[in-house]
Amino acid sequence: MTIFAELGLNATIQANITQLGYKKPTDIQEKSIGAVLSGADTYAIAPTGTGKTAAYLLPLLQELSQTDYSEAQVRPIRALILVPTRELALQLEQSIADYGKALKLRTITLFGGVRIESQANRFKRGADIIVSTPKRLVDLAKTKAFDLNKVQHFVMDEADRLVSMGIMPLLAKILAALPKKKQMILFSATNSKALTQFGQTHLKNQKFIEALDNQPALDKIKHTMYRCNRENKKQALFNLLNSLNCERALIFVRTKNEVNLLVERLNENGFSSEGIHNEILQKKRQERLLAFKNKTYKFLVATDIASRGIDIDDLYYVINYDLPVNSNDYIHRVGRTARTGTSVKATNKEAKKAAPTTIHKSAPWAKQAKTRDMLGHAFSLVSPEQERLVEKINQAIGKTIALQRLPNVK
Ligand code: AMP
Repeated sequence: MTIFAELGLNATIQANITQLGYKKPTDIQEKSIGAVLSGADTYAIAPTGTGKTAAYLLPLLQELSQTDYSEAQVRPIRALILVPTRELALQLEQSIADYGKALKLRTITLFGGVRIESQANRFKRGADIIVSTPKRLVDLAKTKAFDLNKVQHFVMDEADRLVSMGIMPLLAKILAALPKKKQMILFSATNSKALTQFGQTHLKNQKFIEALDNQPALDKIKHTMYRCNRENKKQALFNLLNSLNCERALIFVRTKNEVNLLVERLNENGFSSEGIHNEILQKKRQERLLAFKNKTYKFLVATDIASRGIDIDDLYYVINYDLPVNSNDYIHRVGRTARTGTSVKATNKEAKKAAPTTIHKSAPWAKQAKTRDMLGHAFSLVSPEQERLVEKINQAIGKTIALQRLPNVK
């Protein structure tokens, strides 16, 4: 068994991760930490929930802390971490605070929806690290609030999403502002043609790393798909929620409107719910997410904004009210369950707890919830026009999920 010390991490970082309860590195951490520490360009495929954040952050923070700029009047920006969503940006800020305790590094996190002037003002004393979504970075760079010409490490987290967001022009601007000589670090849960092409163009002598089992968390997730006409969907969802009798579930829909509508219906029917989508103010989104984590209400209804990066301890059920058009999004959605580490134990607890209390004996999902070795359960309500997506999802996850008839629930 490899331990963190063998991977070349220093005592401060080891103490920080020990405090977080990490006992041994995950597969992707074992493979990436040395590569990133060596300064090599790194292209890693790391499934969601397998500890990919620490896989690049731990070595990166260690590298940055080798030089101390805490006394400098203006700290040069030495690392840029680009992420697709605000949620992931905020989560990363927290991970940097946790993993980088006592390292004297200053991080500034940027994303849209916040006054640009106040973000610009934060750069008066510079920063060691910027975590940002692409558009706000480019907008703020125009104000000359900071300079990116000292960046030594450029990380793209959820890189597959970054290259497919139609942000290539933004990415080109960012790359042009960075020095030629730098370490490129690409982490992605799923590989794609666009990403491979991007890697071939921008990475040099890259170290290609893939977790041993490409989607280990997926093996621990039970998948159930029901055929369901659109007009029956709400009732089917209510039946499912009643039957599961779960502490909470994350429910995915496709559009902002559907989030609003479904939250209304759920609450009217006694299922305490909140929604998040990208037109809800950032502050509200954060509050709602925190309240969901704290179990203040039971059901979070979300668009795919919540399918990536969000880390909710002890979440067992994900429900696809509609299937996502992109099969990779299915992987990301269900990956909100079965998270690495502490959460895994907790999901087991939820699995055990959910089983004996399931109500309707007639409902097959009640039986499925009894599965002990599963770390998450994803249900999908598939309307006829979405059936063609099932095959694509099956290919993406490497399993065949059979479409079942909705159980009759009295
Ligand atoms: P990530 O894939 O980076 O989103 O991490 C998923 C979860 O695993 C987070 O809750 C991390 O805190 C946790 N985690 C990461 N690395 C380890 C580890 N080596 N041991 C235990 N938990 C970990």
